[in-house]
Amino acid sequence: MKNAKQIIAAVVAIAALFLFPEATGNPYYIHLVETIMIYAIVLFGLDIVVGYTGQVSLGHAGLFGIGAYTAGVLIMKLGAPVYVTLPAAIAVTAAFGAILALPALRVTGPYLAMVTLAFGTIIQILINEMTFLTEGPMGITLTKPELFGHKLDETEYYWLVALMLIAALIFVHRVLRSHLGRAFEALRGSPVASDCMGVSVYRYKVYAFVISAGLAGLAGALYAYSEQYISPNTYNFEQTVLFLLAIIMGGRKTRTGALLGATIIVMLPKLLDDLEMFRYVSVILAVIVAISAGVALKRGKSTLQAAMIPVVGSVALAGLSFKLETMTDWRLSVFGLITLFVVYYLQDGIVGFVRGALNLRGHAASDADIASAMTPTGDALSRAGGDAGGNLLEAKGILMQFGGLKALNNVDITVKRGTIHGLIGPNGSGKSTMMNVLTGIYVPTAGTVSFAGTAQAGRTSSEIALSGIARTFQNVQLFGEMSALQNVMVGLHHSFNSNLLDVALHLPRYLRENRDTSVRAMGLLRFVGLAELAGEEARNLPYGKQRLLEIARALALDPQLLLLDEPAAGLTAPDIKELLAIIQKIREHGVTVILIEHHMDVVMSLCDTVSVLDFGQKIAEGLPAEVQANEKVIEAYLGGQAS
Ligand code: ADP
Ligand code: MG
Repeated sequence: MKNAKQIIAAVVAIAALFLFPEATGNPYYIHLVETIMIYAIVLFGLDIVVGYTGQVSLGHAGLFGIGAYTAGVLIMKLGAPVYVTLPAAIAVTAAFGAILALPALRVTGPYLAMVTLAFGTIIQILINEMTFLTEGPMGITLTKPELFGHKLDETEYYWLVALMLIAALIFVHRVLRSHLGRAFEALRGSPVASDCMGVSVYRYKVYAFVISAGLAGLAGALYAYSEQYISPNTYNFEQTVLFLLAIIMGGRKTRTGALLGATIIVMLPKLLDDLEMFRYVSVILAVIVAISAGVALKRGKSTLQAAMIPVVGSVALAGLSFKLETMTDWRLSVFGLITLFVVYYLQDGIVGFVRGALNLRGHAASDADIASAMTPTGDALSRAGGDAGGNLLEAKGILMQFGGLKALNNVDITVKRGTIHGLIGPNGSGKSTMMNVLTGIYVPTAGTVSFAGTAQAGRTSSEIALSGIARTFQNVQLFGEMSALQNVMVGLHHSFNSNLLDVALHLPRYLRENRDTSVRAMGLLRFVGLAELAGEEARNLPYGKQRLLEIARALALDPQLLLLDEPAAGLTAPDIKELLAIIQKIREHGVTVILIEHHMDVVMSLCDTVSVLDFGQKIAEGLPAEVQANEKVIEAYLGGQAS
């Protein structure tokens, strides 16, 4: 449960928000705060895409426009009431979001930026041209909505927006803390690991985008009523850039950051119009920055140089504000400077900077999660089924060609159920490539793989993962910004059946699944000896522990087959001993293992069968002792040095 302080702070904040119109009585300020709240709703959504999934969208002004025009057109043509226009705006915009996302999210980086930018532009042109529907450049004039036969006045409408803001905040917060939010965060942390944990990267990118679009649609409709006039020019490129800037300045992955970002993009243009005010604010800013830098320095969280740069920057800005005679010529330059400054020196945004300076913890793991997971249970590993002895995996004639290089050349591998099958060979012999073929990351040039009697051809990585093949990676692929517990919970994603509604309303099904899953995740952490580190961010764990965490996460899939790619690499001797014991225990639970390993003692003590690769070809196979004595194998390992 949340602590009392947080509840009191929330109650005070909400009370202040609702009492604000009565307190100021000034319609200008009421409208200003209303706009900030509406932008904040867009930013909550945009942050899901930018902050959590790590995709760039330049299409959010367009989506915002679609929301506004859905409301505008419904009111103009049908006189629809507000309880129709708001849901309709959400639904229509979410649908457009899907239309944009389905093709766009197949590409990433600059291509995605271009596609979303083009989308925004097309929307603006369409609104302009479809005069029969949108009145084109003339725009649509509307009035504040009616509710229960009563027309809302400025203050009452403000309250409606405030209610929507709180609803959006709770919705986004719940979604991001659920298995859906973990999926979004995971695909940014490591796309390949997400897919291999059964969390389809593409699917959840689209999901995130559609939710984000829905929020932009809601905000757009609220904006239409707020301005009482909509026209195509509002939803332009500048608007889209402002939204992105707000996320960057406020700080990604925080709702406080979104609120702060919204405040900045609404207030800053006004501020830059008013020199007097600008001087005042820039002095305050310089003082705040200097104090935070001082605190950061004192706590040894920052070097002198790193701490001085923001101070010098903000003092210079304050100095400049007193030199300037007029603002008009300088507006854009000052705006640009502030942006550059934030991008270079406050990469986690203002909220991130303050958190860092004051040593506050992020959201990585709430104590609640961990406490609820602490209740002991039985066995963390469920026993893999199936009759022992048969073949679990048959790979036949695998050819994997990269250009002219045959990384795998006609390799056959058969793995018996319940065994530990070693895969060894010199560096570059094709061992990791084999794992990538088995897990669907590479599609082999030729050859077939069948697992538990089913052909794997045409299956995606996440489908293969869900069919019972889990893996770890040679170069660790954890979700760095997530806690150890959350990493394992991503592996348990498959045990959730809850949908968006269950999550948003905290319906019993979701609460039960969430509780059961965190208990199991904790059990798995205990299984690999990481229970004490459950709340630690994965990237902060020592290397050996990271490897163990990867194993726990892989086991969360309830795999029949576990692929371990050099799990002992880089481990200290005691860590290796611990690892050996864990792999033994995994086998005792009936999980079949393919083990790639360079430490011969590990291979010899664990494996039932060993296959040896050299230059992409299988040169030997058999019992560990046989293989070790095989001449071809000895030659391959000694290679160049011998003969
Ligand atoms: P191992 O794991 O046995 O050390 P790998 O399977 O990683 O070896 O690599 C086998 C060969 O395939 C190497 O020569 C490597 O450079 C090449 N290779 C692996 N993946 C790719 C890829 N995606 N593109 C091109 N070459 C690759
Ligand atoms: Mg390798």
